[in-house]
Amino acid sequence: MPAPENFGVEMVGVPEGAAIELDLRLEAVLEGVLVTGTATVPLKGECSRCLDPIASTFEADFQELFVYDDTRSGGNAEDDELRLEGDLIDLEPVLRDAVVLALPLSPLCRDDCPGLCPDCGARLADVGPEHHHDVADPRWAALRDLAGDMPASPGRGNGSSGSRGFDRREGKQEG
Ligand SMILES: [Zn+2]
Ligand SMILES: [Zn+2]
Repeated sequence: MPAPENFGVEMVGVPEGAAIELDLRLEAVLEGVLVTGTATVPLKGECSRCLDPIASTFEADFQELFVYDDTRSGGNAEDDELRLEGDLIDLEPVLRDAVVLALPLSPLCRDDCPGLCPDCGARLADVGPEHHHDVADPRWAALRDLAGDMPASPGRGNGSSGSRGFDRREGKQEG
């Protein structure tokens, strides 16, 4: 059957009109018809980390009982009970429960997708794990200016004079 509209969640879903493949078994039981089946749907969406397009297939199993119209008086019918409509069953709500509720709210293109660089937006999968920027947080700018006045870098303190005495916080090698 063609997929109805809005068959999905925000970041992934079944495109409207795409073919939903149904494998169904209908069994006559005392109260109605027991429907057991599998729905196979094509999925399209976006990776929630890197926004790459995702295309995959999803399979959902379901089993629901559709009761005959006349087994209960309308008055006591339970709201969540599915009913046959004459000789027909409406599978759409069942499929929505089985497929849409099972879709991930944060789909990934792959389990270990590294996402995007927070600074430049590059895909980290493309630019590699060494990718980074030497962009100082503007909140530290004043501190950086202060560091510029210091005689040595705040790193290992390799052999600089250290005469001002405040650039050796670790004090491992006193000169
Ligand atoms: Zn991704
Ligand atoms: Zn970057």
